[in-house]
Amino acid sequence: MKNTEKRTELGELGEFGLIDRIKKRTRQQNKSSVLGIGDDAAIIEAGDEYKVVSSDLLAEGIHFDLSYFPLKHLGYKSVSVNVSDIAAMNAKPEQILVNLAVSNRFSVEAIDEFYEGVNMACEDYKVDLVGGDTSSSSAGLFISVTAIGSVAIDKVVKRRGAAGGDIICATGDLGGAYIGLQVLAREKQVYMADPNMQPQLEKYKYMVGRQLKPVARMDIIHELDELGVVPTSMIDISDGLASELFHLHKHSGLGVKIFEDKLPIDNQTYEAAVEFNLDPITCVLNGGEDYELLFTISQDDHDKLEKHPDIHFIGFMDAKDKDVGLVTKNENWVPLKAQGWQHFES
Ligand code: ADP
Ligand code: MG
Repeated sequence: MKNTEKRTELGELGEFGLIDRIKKRTRQQNKSSVLGIGDDAAIIEAGDEYKVVSSDLLAEGIHFDLSYFPLKHLGYKSVSVNVSDIAAMNAKPEQILVNLAVSNRFSVEAIDEFYEGVNMACEDYKVDLVGGDTSSSSAGLFISVTAIGSVAIDKVVKRRGAAGGDIICATGDLGGAYIGLQVLAREKQVYMADPNMQPQLEKYKYMVGRQLKPVARMDIIHELDELGVVPTSMIDISDGLASELFHLHKHSGLGVKIFEDKLPIDNQTYEAAVEFNLDPITCVLNGGEDYELLFTISQDDHDKLEKHPDIHFIGFMDAKDKDVGLVTKNENWVPLKAQGWQHFES
């Protein structure tokens, strides 16, 4: 590149800035492309229903470390993270395509193990593996999965759509996958210092499981359907609750108020966070990869979900005050920062 040419570092834009830039430079030409870049999945017209399509890329050394990530689990997780994006559109997944770039460091048996996990996930989510692509890689393993799902036209849910007063709901518990990652990283250090040391994972089984074996919340999508609830907006929690709340804020143009005492955290996650000198609430807000769902519902649907054991009302959308923040247990107001994973940070 010539010296006179302007060079902008990727880190200046960040992941979301880069995606916005790509989106601005994109023109859509087909009427069937109902919704393009910017949601958990694209929406495509398909007769009397919609198809939704989403891709995710997992890169060795960035998204996973094979010294503690069994290939079978990696196969399962690669499918889960995509199904989670399909779930976030209130759609049902039906097909996946798997693209692999693999170096000669991997054996045939290693790839078999990876596909064992992929096939297990296909069984669990009732999706069919219908294609993909395979390439060699000069270094490391790259996995990209594309998932396709379908949804009735009047049931599709986007990141936009929330109204003032809507209740913000989060499923499951949060922060566990992040703590699981801390545990695995610590045990790796211990092992590297002394390979005779056995990893101490039993006590942290739940959190390690959240990191290695995430399950997309299709169960919640089916239950919402049975209860006759269509969320007004939805996103899956992959980058951390705070980051996803900012997406709902940006897409709705509304304020977001959440309450510290309503945030779902598992007891073991809480205790492990304290042990790691981490603030449990920070783990809930900024820890990624829980693959739970974050959605908003109209107040009219309050009673239908109020008693659900795995759906938590954590706050509300605010049409008056447009800030995004947390009300602490002491009733103090703390503005939130969108601290998702910043892939391009140096
Ligand atoms: P998620 O965390 O739900 O997987 P992302 O933040 O990865 O969502 O992506 C947000 C939106 O940007 C999606 O619509 C996705 O398809 C789109 N997107 C991401 N990367 C690219 C890219 N390189 N080119 C075009 N669109 C992209
Ligand atoms: Mg998503």
